[in-house]
Amino acid sequence: MPLVPATDPAAWRARLDAAGARIDGHVRRTELRAAQSLGAELGLELWLKLENRQITGSFKLRGATNAIALLEPAQRARGVVTASSGNHGKALAHAAMAAGTRAFVFVSSLVPANKLAALREMGAETRVAGASQDEAEERARAFSQAEDRVFISPFDDPAVIAGQGTIGDEMLDDLPDMDTVLVPLSGGGLAGGIAAAVKSRLPSCRIVGVSMARGPAMAMSITAGHPVEVAEEPTLADALSGGIGLDNRYTFAMVRDLLDDIVLLSEVEIAEGIRVAARLGETVEGGGGVGLAALVARRARGRGKTVIVLSGGNIDPSLHRRIVAGGSG
Ligand SMILES: *Cc1c(COP(=O)(O)O)cnc(C)c1O
Repeated sequence: MPLVPATDPAAWRARLDAAGARIDGHVRRTELRAAQSLGAELGLELWLKLENRQITGSFKLRGATNAIALLEPAQRARGVVTASSGNHGKALAHAAMAAGTRAFVFVSSLVPANKLAALREMGAETRVAGASQDEAEERARAFSQAEDRVFISPFDDPAVIAGQGTIGDEMLDDLPDMDTVLVPLSGGGLAGGIAAAVKSRLPSCRIVGVSMARGPAMAMSITAGHPVEVAEEPTLADALSGGIGLDNRYTFAMVRDLLDDIVLLSEVEIAEGIRVAARLGETVEGGGGVGLAALVARRARGRGKTVIVLSGGNIDPSLHRRIVAGGSG
């Protein structure tokens, strides 16, 4: 396929359709669950897209599965490389195993032993390299070049973006007249993919991205007009922290051109999102629940039929218990 013009939703349609067919049977088609009483309280019709119940606990399995499936067989056989101790690392490890190949997952020396062990358990070949996430990524890219194994970005890759976008198509198939979608936003693969999918079929639907106020790299880049470096700060929404890449090729322009609004939340608001989700019977991590948090804090305006993407559920159980019991972390 030709290079995709970054921000034309129609130009993504063929890739999205192909991604949907390609990952079918390899990822869960998650439920779109009605949240009637909370919706009534908020004055709208509300649904939750349950990617917190996706295999590996987050939507990232979609992009990883699509990206690995798109490789030439010889490349696929050599294995794939990334740098992530979080949901992308897990997803890539799982997708590589399922495709009968290997995932080399680089993590920095800051990553706790239990996370490293979890990645190994999922079949990843872990490499501890560098004193920061950025250094680990540099080392991963160098390894990828030297060993001729494909590096798979967590967000800035058309195959990954199209994989995440399949969420938008599933939501539209289930609810063809959505008015608003609230989606967690970090590097923008999720929000960009969903926006391309939804706007190519329903241009009137509003897409709102939600990040944490602590180190929101995409929001600050949009304000600056170009990708900027943002200092990482500790946050409950750890899956949303990190940069968008100063050489960002796709997601910055997609988020800039396709999202209708971006909302930034405090730590207290993010904690409340985790609690409200728990009351609804859904376990979410901080970053996974920011769409819900934005709505209940009335920081984002829902309208008509509103869908919240619950993007992930990988939260330390003891932290989850503390937050549900009323703490903020
Ligand atoms: C990665 C991630 C996000 C953000 O996705 P981007 O494509 O980087 O914007 C949101 N929620 C969870 C749970 C994630 O793991």
